[in-house]
Order: sequence, then C-alpha cells, then structure tokens
Amino acid sequence: MHHHDLVLSSLAPGPILVVAPHPDDECLGAAGFISMAVAAGHEVHVLFFTSGDGFVQDAQRYYLSLTVTPEEYLHLGYERQKEAVNALTSLGVESSQIHFLGFPDGGLDALYRSHWFDPFESPTTTLNAVPYLDAAGGALTYRGHDLWLIVHQIMDQVQPRIVVLPHPIDGHPDHWATHSFARLALLSAEAKGRSWALQATVLSYLVHWPAWPMPLGLRTHLEQRPPNGLNQPSRIWRKTVLNQAAIESKQRTMTIYTSQMELIKPYMLAFVRSTEAFEVDPTRTIKGAEGKDPRLPLQGWNAEDTIAYAMPQGDFMTRMAKGVNIIDRLEWSCSEGYGYLRLRWQEHRDRPNLRAVVRMHWPGGEAPDTWCFDLETGELLGEAIGDLRSRVAQQTLAVSWPLSLWQDRSRLMLGVEVLEGSRVVGRSGYLAYHWVQTPLPEGMNEDEALKHRMDIGGHGGDQRPGGPGATAGRRTIL
Ligand SMILES: [Zn+2]
Repeated sequence: MHHHDLVLSSLAPGPILVVAPHPDDECLGAAGFISMAVAAGHEVHVLFFTSGDGFVQDAQRYYLSLTVTPEEYLHLGYERQKEAVNALTSLGVESSQIHFLGFPDGGLDALYRSHWFDPFESPTTTLNAVPYLDAAGGALTYRGHDLWLIVHQIMDQVQPRIVVLPHPIDGHPDHWATHSFARLALLSAEAKGRSWALQATVLSYLVHWPAWPMPLGLRTHLEQRPPNGLNQPSRIWRKTVLNQAAIESKQRTMTIYTSQMELIKPYMLAFVRSTEAFEVDPTRTIKGAEGKDPRLPLQGWNAEDTIAYAMPQGDFMTRMAKGVNIIDRLEWSCSEGYGYLRLRWQEHRDRPNLRAVVRMHWPGGEAPDTWCFDLETGELLGEAIGDLRSRVAQQTLAVSWPLSLWQDRSRLMLGVEVLEGSRVVGRSGYLAYHWVQTPLPEGMNEDEALKHRMDIGGHGGDQRPGGPGATAGRRTIL
C-alpha cells in the first residue's frame, strides 16, 4: 500500500470542493484538510447532499420523544445546517461557499438505484421534494436525475481543482451513493470536455467501516490509517499531516456538532488524529488487450492486465448488506470491440437464489441501464440484449457484449450488486470508467473473435490442457 504525504502547499492553486452526505461528515473526514487548505489560500466549498433530517435516534433524543413528527425531523435538519455553518466558518470557510441541497437523509441509495425519475418519499419528513428555503437548488423533486443535475451545475460553477468525496464503498448507503452521484456529475463534465474536470484530482475519505477508526476516543498522537481490507497494493492512499492548529480546529468542530456528539462522542473524537487519510481516485481506463492474444481476454485473473476491484473479505459487513459481502472479485476488460465482465463470489451453499445486477449510469443523465443475471444458470433475466452472452461456472459469472450496445458512449459509472431476493448481499463500488474501444486486428473477422470470447479462464486451479482450442466445447453452454 502506498501511503505518501499529501502536501497542500505543493498542490496547484484552485478551488476545492468537499462533498458530504450529512452535516458532520465533512469534518470527520476532512476538517484538518479544510482548515489547512483555507490557511494555504485555497477557496474551499462544501456541498451537503442532505441536512441530516433522517437520523431517528438523534431526533428522539432532541425532542425527548419516541414519536417524532415529520415537522420535527425538518426542524432537526435546519438545526444541523446551523451546526454545519458554525463548524465550517470556524475553520475559515466562507458561509457563501457552504451549499445545502436538502435531499432526503437515508434516501440517497434509493435515488441512485431505483428512483432516477420516479420521486422518492422520505420516511421521516414524508416529503418528496426539497423543503429547505435556503437549498442551493431550490425545491427540487427527490429524484436521482435532479440530484445529479444540480451537483453537475454546482461543480461547473465552482470548477474545483480538488474534489473530496465519501469513499465509494463506505458502509453507509448515503455515503457510497453520495460518492456515486458526485462522481457521475464529474464524469458528465469530463464527457463534455470541461478542462477543469479532466484535470481534477478526486480524493475519498472514509467514515463508516467495521471496527474503524480504532481505538475510540481522542488520540491525537496516532495517525489515521486505512483499515485492513481497504489497503490492497492496488489502492493509492495519501495522508495529510495536520499541524497543531489544524488538529485543534478539527477537535473544536466536533464540539460544535453537539447534536451528534451527545450520541456518538468517542466515535467522533476517534477521527481527530495527527493525519487524515484519503484514497486517490485511480484512473479507470479499460483498454483493449494490446500485446495479448485477443481471443483470450479472460484467461486467468491478472490484476496487472485488467482493472479489478475486489471487495474486502472476511470482516467486511455493511449496514446495507447486513452481512458478509459475498463478492470476491470483479474484473472488467475489453478487446476487439467487446466488453467483458467477470464476477466471482464466495460459496454459499444455502443461498441458491442469487442474482447479479450490473448497473450503468450515463454521463448525460438518462435513466440507468441494468442487466440482471441468475447466478445459478448464468442466464440474463428479462429481455434478450443484442449479442450479450453470459455463463456461470465455478462461482464465476462471465459476460461479454459488443461495446456498440453503448452507442459510442465510452464514459459511464459501473457497479455490480449481488442480491438474494431483494436484499443486497454484495456490492462493488460504483466507479467511473472510460472504455477505449479497439478495432478488430487486420485479417480477423467478427466470427473468429466471437469464437473464443467466452472463456471464463482459470482462477488458480483451472487448467486447460488443450490450450485455447480446448475451450471450444465449453462455449456450447451458452
Ligand atoms: Zn454521514
């Protein structure tokens, strides 16, 4: 794992945009960074997706009641906005650069996954549109599309040099969805060729992860380290070393967030360390398999050749998954005009009804596409899709499809969920990808390329004694 210093004074000058799902996340993740960035002369903006109007335990404590009314939840949202303004202005952020969108606390995951155009009703405020009078986008409807659009517009105004986002596989559904919406908005700007977007640096901070940060309580002599399971060699982490003033400023913001501190004080103080850790958004360009046999794009698991995002195993439990994430490995690749997906999951004998959903969000803001596969048979569920092919063997799903299905749109957000019934039991991050199509080599026709396309390949023990030709028989499973 790389864990080098992120030195603020060495960064090119330019605006910084910190994005937070709820008031307090920006300080838990980046108060020291914000404080030092302001001191170094950067213009810092903070964008809140929600105002925290869905925190049931918090509202119960605040109103001393187990039956909190929708109006009280809304009032709580306004209170948490005030705390956020107090906390951030204490760090030196201009109040005009603090933006509240007022989207539903606890609903962002639903907006991203299933309410792109269909309005969502907040279970706590019972509203389906932004009620806050000071909301940056006005009274927007609670729809994924509207959230994507306003974030895209704000980014285009701020033109950030650095974008600080929640981590894409943070265990809290609002957090990972905030990453996905913001990354999609940035991707939209990239697709339009905006130079600020193509040059922006994306950093991710983590808040919710099992048994992290540990130990609890205020320990400013310790560094904040990425948790086990998120420190694989393929990930690049940077740390900001906080000076004494930044550490004290961060600690002070925790006390300003009184509504949160009363509930979870030792947890919040555990974020006040001598450093803040950020994962750098890696380049996710999926290119053709140059220099390899184009007929065997899926041979072996090789992280050097393909970009793979394995979810951590063992101790990983998300609130959302309510159990172990069973996705073991996920790999995307492309060759000769075709895209390939390979997904391996951990064996679960008592889980016969697993499905995998591939979710595609486009930079133009149109409704997302989904492909759903039965993980027992490998079959695509629902309507057939062009020349898409899929099969399952050895707890591995392999899918291939012509990239022309995407109508020349090469940038998109991609992620996979594994569902058991309606319950999510595994989820990859939803990340931005840029697919670079490569034409068929001279002399090879479509049929030849297709011939070997669906080789699932070996993960360790799978040997094909006959070489590439021996895979011919297997393809009949399709
Ligand atoms: Zn949060």
